[in-house]
Amino acid sequence: LNFNGYDIDFERAIAFIKKKNAHTIFVQLPEGLKQYMNQLEDLFIQQVPDVHVVIGADPCYGACDLPCDDELSALDVDLLIHIGHTIIPSMKYKSSIDLLFLNASSLHPIDPVVTKAARVLKGPAIGVVTTAQHLHQIPQIKNILEENGLTVFIGEGDKRVSAQGQVLGCNFSAATCIRSKVDSYLYVGSGFFHPLGLSLSTQKPVVIADPYTEKVITKELEEIKDRVIRQRYGAITQAKMAENYGILVGLKPGQQRMNYALKIKQKIQETGKNSYLLTVDHISPLILDTFPFIDCFVSTLCPRVAIDDHLQYKQTLITPVELDIALGKRSWDTYIFDEIQ
Ligand code: SF4
Repeated sequence: LNFNGYDIDFERAIAFIKKKNAHTIFVQLPEGLKQYMNQLEDLFIQQVPDVHVVIGADPCYGACDLPCDDELSALDVDLLIHIGHTIIPSMKYKSSIDLLFLNASSLHPIDPVVTKAARVLKGPAIGVVTTAQHLHQIPQIKNILEENGLTVFIGEGDKRVSAQGQVLGCNFSAATCIRSKVDSYLYVGSGFFHPLGLSLSTQKPVVIADPYTEKVITKELEEIKDRVIRQRYGAITQAKMAENYGILVGLKPGQQRMNYALKIKQKIQETGKNSYLLTVDHISPLILDTFPFIDCFVSTLCPRVAIDDHLQYKQTLITPVELDIALGKRSWDTYIFDEIQ
């Protein structure tokens, strides 16, 4: 079914609802699809008239962000449908409520932009990566590049990703595992955060092929990378002067890194400085404002928080890798992107 430019397997969802005899379903949608939730509800109700559909209105940026079992049980939800992201196999999520992931596969054509990208890629060996929306188009991407005389590598990735060639904003293992074999990478998708992480994780040239704008981007990414590196250097300089650190620990099931946070606390303690563990679900500037005595926050949450959203915060917010640099345990030359496994 073409749902506003995405192929979403609603037949599978309907069959699952009927099979499980579900009465109340909780649907999580990515931000871009929430505006169509009325169409989605109509679709479900037409097929299963007795079902109650509850839409999660909180922001949902990834499969890491599943609601807690107790909350759903309290609402008498008997089925959770998560749309727009693929399962994170390594994530520990225990729930008595049935769960179905439905990917939203882009129906946007990719041939024109990938053909354009093939002409600027530095080969001959190219690593191809993309997001969940374009995973089904990887064979097509591979064909186009091969027709242009390039050799294509698709990395397996670790257990954080659900398919070969998939990258998340917090995981570039499908790219780093083929690093020694490739001359450069092609990222098919929109936005700059994934290709930025890809570039910082692999330190190899990255070309973006954006199917929605049909633009092939190289120079702008380098400019963004330079700007981000300067920002990060500034944040680390501030972090060096901090005496009180707040370590942010995520409550979202796929962002919980408590053991990592404890190790960070120990490292800070060893330097004679103070640190506090702070749990958080949806982070916001308002939350950080309530701890005025904290000079620097170390985020073990989604890496986007410290790197992509930093302009929202007046406080110093750094990743654990950046803390290592601030504490003198890692050199700036070996800066790497924070990833979750
Ligand atoms: S941690 Fe961030 S990048 Fe990773 S899956 Fe969650 S929202 Fe996406």
